[in-house]
Order: sequence, then C-alpha cells, then structure tokens
Amino acid sequence: MEKLLKDLLMSDGISGYEENVAKIMTNALSKMCSSVETDNFGNIIGKLGNGKKKIQIAAHMDEIGMVVKHVNEKGYIYFIKVGGINDSILPGKLVEVINKKGEHIKGIIGTKPPHLMTVEEAKQPIKHKDMFIDIGLSSRQEVLKVLDIGDQIIFEPNAGILHENFFYGKAADNRISCYAMVKVMESLSKIKDLNAEIYACATAQEEVGLKGGKTSSFKVNPDFALIIDTTIAGDMPGIEEKVSALKLGKGVAITMMEASGRGTIVPHKVRKIMLEAALKNNIAHQIDIIDGGMTDGAAIYTNREGILTGILSIPTRYIHAPSSVFNIKDIESAVKLAVATIQKVVKKL
Ligand SMILES: [Zn+2]
Repeated sequence: MEKLLKDLLMSDGISGYEENVAKIMTNALSKMCSSVETDNFGNIIGKLGNGKKKIQIAAHMDEIGMVVKHVNEKGYIYFIKVGGINDSILPGKLVEVINKKGEHIKGIIGTKPPHLMTVEEAKQPIKHKDMFIDIGLSSRQEVLKVLDIGDQIIFEPNAGILHENFFYGKAADNRISCYAMVKVMESLSKIKDLNAEIYACATAQEEVGLKGGKTSSFKVNPDFALIIDTTIAGDMPGIEEKVSALKLGKGVAITMMEASGRGTIVPHKVRKIMLEAALKNNIAHQIDIIDGGMTDGAAIYTNREGILTGILSIPTRYIHAPSSVFNIKDIESAVKLAVATIQKVVKKL
C-alpha cells in the first residue's frame, strides 16, 4: 500500500479535530500546488494552474468517532458519538483517546457480559449511552491526568491489503478520496494547456452536516465543483441488488442523486459530461442513485446562486464501521474520471 494512502487511513481526525489529516494533505498538495492554505474553518485549499474557469475538487477529511463526555469515579469514560454510528458495532471495540499532547491512549468499549444479562436485557440492543471505555485506570483523578473531557476518540487505526486489489482501513470514508484528490492534482499538474484554476479542497466537518463543503465553496466560488467521496457498495450479504447494485472492482460510481433527492440532484448537463468522459476514455464506472446518505455536494450545489456540481463515489463496504473494504482499482478509475471530467468541463461549460 502506498505510504500516502496508509498515512491517511491511519491518521486521526473526527469532525472538528482534523489537524493531523490536514498536515498530511498540506504536505501532499504542496508538491504540485502554487499555494496551500488553511481557512478559518479548517479546510485545506490547494491552488493549481491559471485560467478563466475556476474548478473546485472537494474531499472531506473528517471521520466518524466519539468524544469524551464524562469520567466516573471508578475511571470509566462515557462518550458522545460524532457522525453516523450504529450502536450495535461498538461493544468490545478497541479505541484510542487522543489527548492534547497527541498521545494515543488505548481503551476498550465495555459492556456487561451476556452471562449476567436478564433474558429481557439480552434481547435489547445496548445503547451507546450505557457503554463506557475502560483504559485500565481505576479512578477519575488518574484518568483526568492523562486525558480531558472533550478529547476525540477514534477506532484503532488499521490499514492493509486483504487480497490482491481488495484493501481495508479505518476511515476509508473519506481518506481514500483525499488520496484520490492528491492523485488527480498530480495528473492535472502535468497537463500544460489546462487553462483553469483548480482548487483542491480537503474539507472539514462533512460527517456532521456538510459544513466544510459549504464554507470552502463560498470562498472559492467555482464554476464547477467535483466531489469525491465513498458510497455504499451492495456486494455483501444483507443488501439486495435493487437497494445497491454497486460492486467493488467494477469502477468508480457516478452519483446522480442522493438521499432520494434531499441531497444533491446532479444537473443533467453535468451527468452527460461525466458519462461522456467515462465512455470516451474507457473508464470503468457504475451509476449511483441512492435512497440515503449525502455528500458535501448537497451543500455546495445549493451554495451562493447554485454551483454546478458533479459527484464521484468510490464503492466501499462497511462504511462508518471500525474498518472498511475497498478496491484500489476503483480509486484509479475515480482519478482517471475526475481528470477527464475536469478537462471536458474546462472546454465545454
Ligand atoms: Zn463520506
């Protein structure tokens, strides 16, 4: 696995705590951008090229996670969730609390063993409010010496290869797209007559309300915005093909509609440009129409007087879990299609 991809997957950055991912993105974008800045909101914006048209690429940096809410007198830590997490995935997981010094403190999300549950209790899903984190210290005083209320909590960092092109990692949503965005900028930097200003925006706080997409697109005010994010792959038990027909390894998804229309409804002329770019360049792709979930696109395309927006989604299994599975070939398709789309947009829009 390439170092940049691994570093992004292993890094920590729940919504509002993206500084470490931001450092990685600043370093990576500095290699080809003429300027890289951090705005008031915590978005990283790298600029490349000159020309009349302004193109924004957006990939969010934040991951879902938790925040320390309370430490009881016995040293157990209670937490709030940040972003969409189903409580059922939490019991027994290894997590890390990151303190002000940047130290990672390991902990286990504890719950009562099944042996001691009543029949009624065993039937009920355990709520995160009843779970606690055990870091191996036995009093509130001891715990508050190593961490503070308000510190972020992430799932144990992990990243690697399962088999051939099938990779796994924490925070694949959306670090794989941050990685893809860097690769897109690398490709675009080699095109001599690009004739456009490209702004690569690694956005903050997407998982809690598409916030960085909104503020960064207001600042950049682009003629066209291209969002890169993950989407739900349907090639696993429990998901019917009619719900998601997206498969790993079958190419990047061109998202046309999110959250049954409450999210982005990608304009028809943008859909056409993206489809033509994929077909003309023989880029593996799939079409994504989803009932639930949305991306920064929804905030960007309704910003100002409306911003023309397209969305590329990388099919991913088990998003918003401690580890997700994706196919490296789909990232390659995403990069190719992003570059082809941007070239077409610069000439046609
Ligand atoms: Zn995402």
